[in-house]
Amino acid sequence: MIKKFNAVNNELTDVIYSLITSLQCEKYRQVADRIEFCLPDAAIFKKRDDKEIVEKGFGSCLLKSYGIDNWEVSIIVNIKNCQQAKLTPREITAVILHELGHILNVPDLPDEPTFEFCFIHGIPFDHALLEQVQESNNLAREMYADSYAMQHGYGAELITTFHRQNENFDQKIGFCQQRIEQIQNPEWLGGKTISIKGNF
Ligand SMILES: [Zn+2]
Repeated sequence: MIKKFNAVNNELTDVIYSLITSLQCEKYRQVADRIEFCLPDAAIFKKRDDKEIVEKGFGSCLLKSYGIDNWEVSIIVNIKNCQQAKLTPREITAVILHELGHILNVPDLPDEPTFEFCFIHGIPFDHALLEQVQESNNLAREMYADSYAMQHGYGAELITTFHRQNENFDQKIGFCQQRIEQIQNPEWLGGKTISIKGNF
């Protein structure tokens, strides 16, 4: 487990330590070492898109794969945006738990019928269908990540971070209403830990 913080962010360091402690259980032992927590200025961006994603929100989860068995995840907290929107430590925790959910509570999703997928399976390519499946898969990924934060008791704080994001920044929360309704649903969405073998 890698942490890249400085003394200015003592409050955040406490949050991260409590999350790291929660990852010490057997279930997550294999993946815990592949997760890095850091601030934007400590992150190495391989793609311009990644930097833009980090700049627009409170937290981001960047997956890096170097071959089928070798991957790492950087969970980046944009502390400047969190402070600008006056997030409380519990709200920041909710943001980080959501990002962890993208690794530790992943839904089983249908294959996306990309051009390549259709070619291999001998079926006609349909762009509208591809967009439809991608949209529903994206919604499912967000809902399962939300559910992870909710399972840890941070559902209410996660919802307030959606409102703060929408009030303070141009980039709005995707699927906001559907996600709020799901977080308020007492039923948890149980996913799996992201496959060590890759899949992304
Ligand atoms: Zn997300």
